[in-house]
Amino acid sequence: MELSHIPIYDHHAHALFREEIWRSTPLEPYFSEAYDPRVLSQFVPDTLFFRRSLRDLAEFYGCEATAPAVRAARQGWEYAELARRMFAQANISQWLIDDGIWPDQLMGVEESGALAGVPVRRILRLETELAKLIPWHDSYAGLERAFVELLYATAPTLAGFKSIIAYRSGLEIIPPGLEIEQSYTALKRRLQAGEVPKITNKTLLDAAVWKAFEVAAETELPVQFHTGYGDPDLDLRRANPLHLRAVLEEPRFKGLKVVLLHCYPFVREAGYLASVYPGAYLDVGLTIPYTSVHGMRTAVHEALHLAPIRKVLFSTDAQRTPELFWLAARWGRRVLADVLEVTVQGGDLSDSEARWAAERVLHANAAELYPSSSPR
Ligand SMILES: [Zn+2]
Repeated sequence: MELSHIPIYDHHAHALFREEIWRSTPLEPYFSEAYDPRVLSQFVPDTLFFRRSLRDLAEFYGCEATAPAVRAARQGWEYAELARRMFAQANISQWLIDDGIWPDQLMGVEESGALAGVPVRRILRLETELAKLIPWHDSYAGLERAFVELLYATAPTLAGFKSIIAYRSGLEIIPPGLEIEQSYTALKRRLQAGEVPKITNKTLLDAAVWKAFEVAAETELPVQFHTGYGDPDLDLRRANPLHLRAVLEEPRFKGLKVVLLHCYPFVREAGYLASVYPGAYLDVGLTIPYTSVHGMRTAVHEALHLAPIRKVLFSTDAQRTPELFWLAARWGRRVLADVLEVTVQGGDLSDSEARWAAERVLHANAAELYPSSSPR
């Protein structure tokens, strides 16, 4: 099955490095979620993802499949030309950017889109915006009011919200109780005047994110959740999407659309949630392309064990370098084609149903889920 003609609606990814940073960044860190310099220099070159990607990139650059050859070849390219070529080959027709990470190193949303020649829209990262408001508010009630105002004010310009609460206090989000003001006062006491904290306080995060769901349900903007694996800032035990049950069961969030990102290794759990909750969707970006070919195929298979085809999405979750978008798109299409062929051989889908499923997963599901760019 050949899927290169189907454009990808890349509903979760990040921005590109500014050129001087791209030029001076080594190759290895792109291929791992680790920070440890020893892991990056000594062990990343031994991963299946790195070995496979060297051969892929060597094919693109027309050079030998060794790290020094690929390094030299990529430096010979003009940055904008490389971005345009790679995004065109990746056939990405829409790019939703979560701009909540590395703001000092990455380009802005519009600037990234202009460089790559792809239409972009912004996804607002809830925890980052909440933290920026903390220096200005002495009570939780005041903070919450300002946060809700900000969410309503920016909602018309957004494609959706994103929560990284899995990275902070975990996905088991508890509705706010009376202890919130006390807890906020204790947090403020520990901060310097004007300090923007990295919020890890579970009571505060749960209360604020819970409030944001009300805004999301009302404005009909989807909320993306980081679930499953990521960098070591995350406690993977708390990132199992099954912890989201309280949110998914809450009657006030009836219309809320929740997108479970990455999911690995909890893909079956995420697929189960998508099969029983009308507002739950799942995505296997990051699992593709960071795992082995077998790992990627397994993840797509597992996503389809239970989840309806209209609930399964693909994103690149790429960032920093155009090469990651190109690699993710290449393997996203390949692996989806492999898995759909197996569903045909096994008797799950007919040929034409499998072609329809490919179109849904790569493009149509996201295009329907997220608001279009016209002002709402
Ligand atoms: Zn991401």
